[in-house]
Amino acid sequence: MNKTTTLIIGAGGVGRVVAHKCAMNRETFGEIVLASRTKSKCDEIASEISDVAIQTRSVDADNTQELIDLIKDINASIVINVALPYQDLTIMDACIATGVDYLDTANYEHPDEAKFEYKLQWAKDEDFKKAHIMGLLGSGFDPGVTNVFCAYAQKHYFDEIHTIDILDCNAGDHGYPFATNFNPEINLREVSAKGRYWEKGKWIETDPMEIKMVWDYPEVGPKDSYLLYHEEMESLVKHIKGLKRIRFFMTFGESYLTHMKCLENVGMLGIEPVEHQGQKIVPIEFLKTLLPDPASLGPRTKGKTNIGIVAEGIKDSKKRKIYIYQVSDHEKCYEEVKSQAVSYTTGVPAMIGAKLMLEKVWYKEGVWNMEEFDPDPFMEELNKQGLPWQIKELDI
Ligand code: NDP
Repeated sequence: MNKTTTLIIGAGGVGRVVAHKCAMNRETFGEIVLASRTKSKCDEIASEISDVAIQTRSVDADNTQELIDLIKDINASIVINVALPYQDLTIMDACIATGVDYLDTANYEHPDEAKFEYKLQWAKDEDFKKAHIMGLLGSGFDPGVTNVFCAYAQKHYFDEIHTIDILDCNAGDHGYPFATNFNPEINLREVSAKGRYWEKGKWIETDPMEIKMVWDYPEVGPKDSYLLYHEEMESLVKHIKGLKRIRFFMTFGESYLTHMKCLENVGMLGIEPVEHQGQKIVPIEFLKTLLPDPASLGPRTKGKTNIGIVAEGIKDSKKRKIYIYQVSDHEKCYEEVKSQAVSYTTGVPAMIGAKLMLEKVWYKEGVWNMEEFDPDPFMEELNKQGLPWQIKELDI
């Protein structure tokens, strides 16, 4: 009998997909426990999964002791953290204290500072090694699959990769004038921040949305794509040999950008508390209350996502350029797991990362990024678990 117990923390859009997908791979995940701040959200997800019993719990993942108690109580074998990036460190600490493997999909962020970096998570490497456990960072789509695509390109297509562009397109339409496809606070903090890319060993900062290009996304068409800073670049510049430049582009529609600019101009994206009728409120948190819950977009969203990488470099002394990408359809994702494609494309890779860890296909003690493992088993799982990818040779 499988003695594995899988603890999923976070019952949002991504948590829903992870719970469904772990249930579909029950032979690997064993007992599945879904815990989050609001237990009723866990219960709702569990009730959608009729063929596998999912246990549900309430936990405050900002509180390390509560997490330790929960992990011990259910005897967890692995923790899949799909709560918010603010909880990464407390959950990692609880895993160190209990000797349990850890996986997340997003870089730690401090709630009071709109800045994310791997420093504090990488600093736990020694403690993970001492506890004989593994931590896999950023096992979503981007970061996550994009890192694996880079590792796959490096392994099979290049002697040296010189440039990488990560291209993230969501051409879904949910019918609202303005809404975000994942947690609004995290999403708006990310896109309203200064842009940054890496060239010849240095980070170059841009104004928000300063650099724009049009990219023709297969199965979607040409879309305005804006340069942003994105966390996978921080680890990829360390791990891809010969890299000279890496950039990240994301598509935004005009309506989204106009709304965001207005909200920013009136101070609604602020993360500092302001006084309102004798009460302190954080503008971006209040905005989150007003905006549609990303989980509610699922049944309304139509259209496709296409996320991939274009890598250029040298193979056998010749120049080469390849494009690896994955297209998902919002409605098909919803049909399968009751979540739109942004949550789906994050939750499926989280499940795959955890599956490879539990099966010891990807297993090393310490804290690791995705591109530090053999990409082949992950790429195979993507094809099997609902995220088939394509590869194209491009003209130079
Ligand atoms: P949601 O906001 O939909 O869900 C987050 C969940 O975490 C909610 O259920 C929330 O509970 C719970 N939560 C928040 N704080 C706590 C806490 N202190 N204790 C316990 N539970 C808590 O977010 P998403 O599902 O859209 O995103 C989940 C994660 O995935 C985020 O970290 C996000 O950055 C990441 N992500 C990664 C992507 C990638 O490609 N790598 C892409 C998209 C997202 P409650 O409902 O009670 O507030």
